[in-house]
Amino acid sequence: MLKSINPYTQETILTFEEETTNDVEKKIKKAHKAYLDWRFMSFERRKNLILECAEVLKKNKNLYAKAITLEMGKPISQAIAEIDKCILLCNFYAEQAADFLAPKEIETEAYSSFIRYEPLGVVLGVMPWNYPFWQVFRLAIPAILAGNTVLLKHASSVMQSAENIADSFTEAGFPEGVFQNLIINNDKVEAIIRNPNVKAVSLTGSKPAGSAVASVAAQEIKKSVLELGGSNALVVFEDAEIDKAVDICIQARFQNTGQSCIAGKRLLLHERIYDIFLEKLLTKVYELKVGDPLDEETYISVMAKEELAEELENQLKKGVEEGAKVILGGKRKAAFFEPTIVINVTPENTLFTEETFGPLLAVTSFKTDMEAIDLVNSSEYGLGVSIFTQDAERAKAMIPQFEDAAVFINAMVKSDPRLPFGGTKASGYGRELSAQGIREFVNIKTVYVN
Ligand code: NDP
Repeated sequence: MLKSINPYTQETILTFEEETTNDVEKKIKKAHKAYLDWRFMSFERRKNLILECAEVLKKNKNLYAKAITLEMGKPISQAIAEIDKCILLCNFYAEQAADFLAPKEIETEAYSSFIRYEPLGVVLGVMPWNYPFWQVFRLAIPAILAGNTVLLKHASSVMQSAENIADSFTEAGFPEGVFQNLIINNDKVEAIIRNPNVKAVSLTGSKPAGSAVASVAAQEIKKSVLELGGSNALVVFEDAEIDKAVDICIQARFQNTGQSCIAGKRLLLHERIYDIFLEKLLTKVYELKVGDPLDEETYISVMAKEELAEELENQLKKGVEEGAKVILGGKRKAAFFEPTIVINVTPENTLFTEETFGPLLAVTSFKTDMEAIDLVNSSEYGLGVSIFTQDAERAKAMIPQFEDAAVFINAMVKSDPRLPFGGTKASGYGRELSAQGIREFVNIKTVYVN
């Protein structure tokens, strides 16, 4: 039995009967059968269905957003923004996918030679609870437009959202089997990857889950894309526009109650602006509207599950034992964790070396550009880094020195359908979004005609 528990009230709000191995096999067969037709469906037809899906999201926005808020505690205004972003994604790919997938002529000595981008078949998406709609759409829309069909294994805590997503595809008029939700626990994932009709897998989640899924895919020689954790740094240099940087850093760390892979978790401050920056930061974080996730004014609410808040509490305890000092917040009650700022965080401290998946900002100071770059790169993760400086040349010189998959200057790291998104090092491999994202789950076919 899978349960949706409202983390704000701790009530079990819904239960879902788990599907059997037999049910799952039937769905895989159905997905494969659907693929055999879908792959030859005209691009125009696929595009129109995606545009229709965007309309369904628009129509049911409040309903879907409320389900997200009830299942995982996301403040309602942010849940609505998440659905809006999915609409944007549908519209973006509907307009751009034909270009991204157009055959590409390559001049050789042959009469003609070119590349075609063809679908692979059934793609499995193993997805997390933190952005229950966005993470799924980011995989499914490009994969489906490319001619694949998709099976979703969502986090077991957000099954109502998973069902809502499946309903949105049905309501849009997609042929049966193009998108299906599996009501299962993670113990059924291995057999699904090993099923010959499943051709690839994409996982967003933790390192252990990514490693487990990728190992099975590797044994089966199947393509995998992994989007795992992160510990992004926010680096503020002495010439930064302080007020602007403070606001961006707060959003980068505290939106979605800190539960984002690309959140800025480590704040690195140049020693010359350290005091003034902290003073302004503290005042503004203290003023953040904390409360009921269903209240439209709420900016920070409960974490998605009590265990996650407990885990963060343990990390904080360890960090403090290792010498860090809490200057704001630090207390937990059930799934609620106060917005927290911790200083004196050395590169060896748990709060620096581990990913903290909640509303906690770890602060470290530095003296030189080189020291800042080393601190950024010392993380095992590599999703992205934000740097704040008004010196464009200085920023440009630093870009190639970061090991991360993204460098944002005077801005927070964010995902945007127009730009590739992914990680290096323990943050995973492969890319989502943009042209790169849609080409992950395709057969790049070489054609040579003489
Ligand atoms: P998990 O990585 O455990 O869950 C993500 C998805 O993977 C879920 O669908 C889960 O299913 C599935 N999964 C978990 N273990 C396996 C496995 N062995 N084989 C196949 N599938 C598996 O995330 P948690 O919810 O446990 O969160 C723990 C930590 O993960 C967070 O604190 C954070 O560090 C990181 N995380 C990162 C995210 C990101 O955006 N990169 C998103 C969410 C979490 P099931 O729910 O049934 O276990």
